[in-house]
Amino acid sequence: MVCWFGGIFLTLILVILQSSSLAQETLPVLKAHPLPPLLAQWSDPANRGDYFDQVQKTQPDYLVWSEFPIKVYVQPIEASEVANPARAQAWIKAVSQAVQEWAVYLPLQVVNRVEVGDIVVQRSFLPLRVAPGQPFGSQRIRAAETRYELYRKSIPNALPVLAHRCLVVVQPNQAESYVLASARHELGHALGIWGHSSLETDALYFSQVHNPPLISPRDMNTLKRIYEQPTRLGWAVPEQGAE
Ligand SMILES: [Zn+2]
Repeated sequence: MVCWFGGIFLTLILVILQSSSLAQETLPVLKAHPLPPLLAQWSDPANRGDYFDQVQKTQPDYLVWSEFPIKVYVQPIEASEVANPARAQAWIKAVSQAVQEWAVYLPLQVVNRVEVGDIVVQRSFLPLRVAPGQPFGSQRIRAAETRYELYRKSIPNALPVLAHRCLVVVQPNQAESYVLASARHELGHALGIWGHSSLETDALYFSQVHNPPLISPRDMNTLKRIYEQPTRLGWAVPEQGAE
């Protein structure tokens, strides 16, 4: 999911499908998972609606997590930053707050080993890119980006399951409130909202706004609908050649 925060552009979807052996015919069949309890408890009596129709299906269909807690790795201060750690510290604080905000609705666990992270949040600069359909020279700085990749997860004494992991990149060179807004928005993508809202009062609004919104009831209504959908993720990958 490419977000043209800070600019007026928006493009969608950057899917990294790592293994060409994950062909459609070897993917698990579509099936819904039970709703995670925190999400099951979510209700919106005021019926403020959702933007589920803007959420894109991907190859495994909806990007639903089914093993909890979802493990989140937040890049710590690197050796090169120790001499002047203020910016990295502010970034870590803002990203950690965004993780806590989403943890109200889905069980998230911060882990300190990158290799066990389901969602890895990285502090780095994103290259300039020309938005599709825009003239050369109209490059925009992107504040953040989320990608996912699919893999087969080994399960002891059972068939492997189709799993995904997400890489979230949030630029450090912005005000802390914008790092927080970017992290909140991108974590929404990583947790399954693979699309954007057209209302600037939603955290998943496609562009960065002056007063960044919190996670909204519409964000939550959308997320809950996503988790009610069937997906190929989290289900056993059929053995090749088997029925
Ligand atoms: Zn986005």
